[in-house]
Amino acid sequence: MYDIIIIGAGVTGCMLAHKLSQYRLKIAVVEAGCDVASGASRANSAIVHAGFDAAVGTLKAKLNVKGCAELPELARQLDVPYKNNTSLVVAFDSEDEETLRKLLERGRSNGVPKLEIIGKEKLRELEPNISPEATAALLAPTAGIICPYDLTIACAENAVVNGAEFFFDSRVDGIECNDGSVTVRAGELELKARFAVNCAGVHSAELARMVDPDYPVDVIPRRGEYMILDKSEGRTCKATLFACPSREGKGILVSPTVDGNIIVGPNAHRVAPDDTSTTAPGLDEISKGARKLVPGINLRAVITSFAGVRPTPTTDDFEIAPSAKAPNFLNLVGVESPGLASSPAVAGYAIEMLAGMGLGLEKRDDYNPFRTHDGHLKKPLRELSDAEKLERCRENPAYGKIICRCETVTEGDILDAIRRPIPARTIDMVKLRTRAGMGRCQGGFCSPRVAELISSELGIPLDEVTKRGGSSVLLFGETK
Ligand SMILES: Cc1cc2nc3c(=O)[nH]c(=O)nc-3n(C[C@H](O)[C@H](O)[C@H](O)COP(=O)(O)OP(=O)(O)OC[C@H]3O[C@@H](n4cnc5c(N)ncnc54)[C@H](O)[C@@H]3O)c2cc1C
Repeated sequence: MYDIIIIGAGVTGCMLAHKLSQYRLKIAVVEAGCDVASGASRANSAIVHAGFDAAVGTLKAKLNVKGCAELPELARQLDVPYKNNTSLVVAFDSEDEETLRKLLERGRSNGVPKLEIIGKEKLRELEPNISPEATAALLAPTAGIICPYDLTIACAENAVVNGAEFFFDSRVDGIECNDGSVTVRAGELELKARFAVNCAGVHSAELARMVDPDYPVDVIPRRGEYMILDKSEGRTCKATLFACPSREGKGILVSPTVDGNIIVGPNAHRVAPDDTSTTAPGLDEISKGARKLVPGINLRAVITSFAGVRPTPTTDDFEIAPSAKAPNFLNLVGVESPGLASSPAVAGYAIEMLAGMGLGLEKRDDYNPFRTHDGHLKKPLRELSDAEKLERCRENPAYGKIICRCETVTEGDILDAIRRPIPARTIDMVKLRTRAGMGRCQGGFCSPRVAELISSELGIPLDEVTKRGGSSVLLFGETK
């Protein structure tokens, strides 16, 4: 019997697990994918929005501003790279400038600090590569960038260190709520708890209806496509550059990433819930949007493309409330953008609600809020000084063997990822934790070596090592 079962291990579910793990609670997290961040939390713009987009008075607006203020300290505690790079919404004509004034007013009403509209001279001074057609911009000094899957992994690992249990490859297909207990089924797996929380992203409305068939909110899946540029283009811009928002969303952006690449995207098109394919017309659309902001952007330096699916609620707000049919089942439905920026505040709000539903919150004495480099998380070799590198390699020669040449990831770094609290069991799990395969060659050189390391370290036959779980094996059949 658990105290609480969290369904879905995206940033919402993992942040909630992380924050709940400071209390004396037995926590289970059930996830359909083979890793955390299997949904929108893996593929998004990675922007810590300041909080001027959401309508005044909405939960989204309140939790965005709060989450944006909380994230820098949380990122420090969890050793997740975060950068306060600021954001600029760029205007190109008088209609756009009117939109900037509305955003400024809305932002101030939402409580976003230090917002200001700047003219084209200041804009060009800040961003020399911006289009000469740009006329003004809304500057948000509190906006930032963070790695969304790194944050999710960090929250999950810290929750595990503090006692939470994760069940992967477990798609919930049945929920039964009785007085005082919830039974959650995922195939053969059956778990019971006093409370359960639905953090299933684009599938959250489906799960809400497993408990209450009349659940009124729908989630519309809307795909956003992206391209990543090589680090050689890292000087394209310093701030996150947004086009003016439209009814479709925040528009196409050009932004640095915390790892030094440039990200371009997203568009917004309705698709099936898990359709993360990229399309030629979609990539053309985002190329045009990026060139409008930065005409000289070098799109020949694209090293990969990907897509994420937004869980857009029909109410246009985060729907966080207990099920009308079960007082011990909490729904977090339609946590779309700015769900990443808001995640610490969303988790805090959910915890307040759970307390109101009767979940006792007694603090543990042995809670560890940190993910320390000298504990279960070691700094990758590439981040050490020359003297530290030498010492690390002397202690363990595995750190002297480079496996991913593009991102300078060593055998020692990969073995560390395989030995972490949530062990990396697939090539993509190693990639998300070490960056092996994220460089210019996109894993062309290192994937076979990574597969061998997973195979030997975890005792999995080489032809059973997968790229991302399920049937995604790399090797099958025999050659001469
Ligand atoms: C294109 C795009 C751009 C975005 N840009 C930004 C941005 O710049 N800044 C920002 O703040 N936010 C952004 N967002 C929003 C942000 O990504 C989401 O709000 C956030 O990731 C939602 O996290 P989540 O954990 O609620 O959902 P998810 O990350 O989707 O996690 C849900 C999890 O539930 C699992 N699941 C689903 N069904 C079941 C089931 N039946 N049983 C078990 N598990 C299940 C899924 O596998 C998944 O892992 C963007 C989103 C998209 C798609």
